[in-house]
Amino acid sequence: MASHSHEHDHDHSTLSEMDVRVRALETLLTQKGYIDPAGIDRIIETYENEVGPHNGAQVVAKAWAEPEFKAWLLQDASAAIASLGFTGRQGEHMVAVENTTDQHNMVVCTLCSCYPWPVLGLPPVWYKSAAYRSRAVIEPRKVLADFGVALPESTRIRVWDSTAEVRYLVLPKRPAGTDNLSQADLAALVTRDAMIGTALL
Ligand code: FE
Repeated sequence: MASHSHEHDHDHSTLSEMDVRVRALETLLTQKGYIDPAGIDRIIETYENEVGPHNGAQVVAKAWAEPEFKAWLLQDASAAIASLGFTGRQGEHMVAVENTTDQHNMVVCTLCSCYPWPVLGLPPVWYKSAAYRSRAVIEPRKVLADFGVALPESTRIRVWDSTAEVRYLVLPKRPAGTDNLSQADLAALVTRDAMIGTALL
């Protein structure tokens, strides 16, 4: 079992600058009449409150509980996930990658912050940081150590670089001793970071 440390050595300094840029852009677009700020607020509220990791957790729990669904998820994640009603922006082309004893999967977007919104909601600040985006590819094992994750050397770490076309969902290993749990109870065990691949369960 991994400890869940939230004190990561990541660079957060770009956020405030980005905030300023976003606000300036929003003001400009509003003044020109291209966007409606209330509409934007509604979209943000939806992704902050209604869409979130609890969706992905349901996908994972169902895959753990139902072998046919797991096979479908690994073969055609977009369709399997859509069958649960989790569709929309940044989730059109999903790929699910399964953690096993041999391989641990970890997701990044080296270019920007591509992320599977319908199943995980909005990305955490660290996911968008320059430090995570560069280090995840160069030294994934050290990044995992920063998150409190230590894997045996025999476990290969595969890093998946998200793009505008493809978004990834990590299917974590089902914890031992959970054979008798309901899907709802299983879903409650699944964390956001485990579905990004920066935490174990
Ligand atoms: Fe991106």
